[in-house]
Amino acid sequence: MLVNLFVNLHTHSQIYDAKLEIVNAEINEPKGYKYYSYGLHPWFINKETIDEDLNKLRFKITEKNCLAIGECGLDKLSKVDYDLQIFVFNEQIKLANEIKKPLIIHCVKSFNELINCLNLSNNEMPVIIHGYNNNENIARVLKDYGCYFSFGKALLGYDSNASKVIKNIGKDYIFLETDDSDLSIKYVYGKATEILGVNLEIVQEQIKMNFEKVFKKQLITLK
Ligand SMILES: [Zn+2]
Repeated sequence: MLVNLFVNLHTHSQIYDAKLEIVNAEINEPKGYKYYSYGLHPWFINKETIDEDLNKLRFKITEKNCLAIGECGLDKLSKVDYDLQIFVFNEQIKLANEIKKPLIIHCVKSFNELINCLNLSNNEMPVIIHGYNNNENIARVLKDYGCYFSFGKALLGYDSNASKVIKNIGKDYIFLETDDSDLSIKYVYGKATEILGVNLEIVQEQIKMNFEKVFKKQLITLK
């Protein structure tokens, strides 16, 4: 039975209400999370320290329990210079491909640029767009590229883009997350179950399969 098999793809705090939580860790944070991701977020790129930060990242992401690079990506609403964001994102795509770990993506008003960067870098690693709440057309383009989608609190709105996309995008491409909200991942699974009109076990089994596919090189078994 999969009674407790909840996977939280992206959270900012470890609360142990999932079998597996990927905590978004800051590169200067002391260790302490079971599983985590490291990345340079497009809001917090600092031009002055970027070389040092990239070096630190290069070292940190090789840790065994660091499962992914991210969140990283592009954000047109960020105050950080956009060219610098693109440079830093490209560096992180390169790193992900070197160490063979998936990318967890933060993307705001930049989906064309995102696909462009991934294509130009010949990315071969799985890409998960976290906190997805954009329209179905964009979702289709991203799915054509092979992106996965992680849905969170936007599923609480029946009319939200997230709720429409999760229904139509195909269950092979979905993950669930709490991000920085104080929701329980169990509650997010409950919402997804309601929207998809299936049993909780089906959602759990599907996300387990998706997880094992995307993170197969990390060799974590979910039982
Ligand atoms: Zn986040």
